[in-house]
Amino acid sequence: MTQAVRTTCPYCGVGCGVLAQPDGRLVGDPAHPANKGRLCVKGAALGETLEDAGRLLHPMVDGARASWDAALDRIAGRFAETIAQHGPDAVAFYVSGQCLTEDYYVANKLMKGFIGSGNIDTNSRLCMASSVAGHTRAFGADVVPGVYEDLEEADLVVLVGSNLAWCHPVLHGRLQAARAARGTKLVVIDPRGTATSSGADLHLALSPGSDVALFAGLLAHCAGIGRLDRDWIAAHGSGFEAALAAARQVAPTLERVAALTGLDPEAIARFYAMFATTERTVTVYSQGVNQSAAGTDKVNAILNCHLATGRIGRPGMGPFSITGQPNAMGGREVGGLANQLAAHMRFDMPGAPDRVRRFWRAPNLAERPGLKAVDLFDAVLDGRVKALWVMATNPADSLPRAGRVREALAACDFLVVSDCWETDTTRYADVVLPAAGWGEKSGTVTNSERRISRQRPFRAAPGEAKPDWWALAEVGRRMGWAEAFAWESPAAVFREHAALSAFENGGTRAFDIGAMATLSDEGYDALAPFRWPLRAGATEEGDRLFAEGGFPTPDGRARFVATPFRGLAAAPGGGFPLLLNTGRLRDQWHTMTRTGQVPRLSDHAPTPAAAFAPADAAALGAVEGGLVRLATPHGEAVLRVALDPGQRPGEVFVPMHWTDAFTSSGPVDLLVGAATDPVSGQPELKATPLRAEALPVR
Ligand code: SF4
Repeated sequence: MTQAVRTTCPYCGVGCGVLAQPDGRLVGDPAHPANKGRLCVKGAALGETLEDAGRLLHPMVDGARASWDAALDRIAGRFAETIAQHGPDAVAFYVSGQCLTEDYYVANKLMKGFIGSGNIDTNSRLCMASSVAGHTRAFGADVVPGVYEDLEEADLVVLVGSNLAWCHPVLHGRLQAARAARGTKLVVIDPRGTATSSGADLHLALSPGSDVALFAGLLAHCAGIGRLDRDWIAAHGSGFEAALAAARQVAPTLERVAALTGLDPEAIARFYAMFATTERTVTVYSQGVNQSAAGTDKVNAILNCHLATGRIGRPGMGPFSITGQPNAMGGREVGGLANQLAAHMRFDMPGAPDRVRRFWRAPNLAERPGLKAVDLFDAVLDGRVKALWVMATNPADSLPRAGRVREALAACDFLVVSDCWETDTTRYADVVLPAAGWGEKSGTVTNSERRISRQRPFRAAPGEAKPDWWALAEVGRRMGWAEAFAWESPAAVFREHAALSAFENGGTRAFDIGAMATLSDEGYDALAPFRWPLRAGATEEGDRLFAEGGFPTPDGRARFVATPFRGLAAAPGGGFPLLLNTGRLRDQWHTMTRTGQVPRLSDHAPTPAAAFAPADAAALGAVEGGLVRLATPHGEAVLRVALDPGQRPGEVFVPMHWTDAFTSSGPVDLLVGAATDPVSGQPELKATPLRAEALPVR
């Protein structure tokens, strides 16, 4: 390599630009709008994750090394047999927010257009499906209205269910710089005291799952003191009075909000006053909102408040969902969720299935949505799904009720796993495919502010590792669809994706990157980060959306959504008096396949620990560093105790990262329940009833 290569960080949804230097160093890209040269500690350690040692180098079939031809023939043959015997819904893909948009596009086209099933879902279901559903209900499409600059131009930033300092560090750095420069006020709404809440002007440590009550109360409060934007509502909204009536029913008084949320009424009143009187307000929300059996209602309760005050799409104001993974957004764009079709079209949109069928010339277009992640693995276990391809994700550790997922993987008639490393999932596979990893493959990702950036290769893939889009296209060709899967490069896939986004659009589809449909290979190579939409003929990237209405609903209006209050799917009781919360640490990523290789990242938290409020630990007789046995209705684990004054009494936090490879306690998801949101299908990963018992110190 003689010149620096511009690429994008493969971790969180901030989507920072990375420069791979000719001397081997990896540094932040000063030209990338997301990070302007900054990297967090994980991004700065990327260069230490590029060892070939331990990588999967060759396809394996039935535990023996095989050629790519043999492996791909086996996959295509078994899929075809399964479809012939049991129908297309007996085949499924489970993919990942780590996949590039081009990988996702080919996987979705193969499953929904040609195999003929909706059964492709993604681990992004665990990350932001409730935001997708909430956006779709309110806006008519899954669109994030804001841009990162809004956090710098706001006078008040409200963070809900977000430990931004650890989970999106560069964006947190931008917010902190803005606070220092202009005195931005910060309210953090999170049951836990975290690195993010420690610097806030106000921290509301509400009861888990009570966000709907807090924001219903906020809507009722703004209405009660005349702080609504009645002109905006009349011009651009629908369903407001019903949503307000529902909010007033949930939260008729401040005292009722206090009772539901467990918060001090004075603190609630202070938050309500700050929100009501600060025009430039951004509400950023993340997994604490989404990972809930009431996640979609939580999202809509937040959106209602912004729509009702007309604070959307203008500088420094708007609701802002921040994604967890590097390409959760890109997957959403191409239909990588089972309930989506393609290019932000849904099965239930008039004309959309026919449009996609004609564009793809698809003989077997799926007629209905497929199985969402939790249901998909249930279907594997009970035999409805007989052939499964898992790509760039490790469900044996990362899905809730992981013990049941492992049973499903073991029972699956035919399991294919594509990955860079052996994982707790690859050990169940009939076919293992060695995937090209970050720094080795080429494609695009989309960050939380709709910005599409290139991932570019700067090193050779080890052994026979290949990109996922290529393996998927090869299987499509071998199943008899040579013309539809004939691409020779990711650039060709991207052009097709862009053309579909604009196909018979009529200017009405929110996601439209038609300007990219005629991009040359050279243009793709040189593509600078840009924000969608970017319609054919447009010369400027997409900016904020919806300030003047224009929502992609049939009548162009935003829909207010009534959000009744529901408690937790499973409340403490019946021998499980505590609540288990799970989430990320600052210096690890997912199931540690990459970050686990870097000793200095492990210094931050060398072993998994269960964080207890000191009073809870004392009541158990547990001490810092001692051992505790945790039990839920789904499993047990023994972990070290960490005393954390930030923990709300009655709640225990355990990080999500450790797996069988790193600890004998196994992944925390062995303990986590799988209740899901009825709209989004996102599981409640942050509230499982728990029992704890201190073990004798030896
Ligand atoms: Fe990577 Fe996120 Fe860190 Fe940026 S903030 S360097 S995208 S992990």
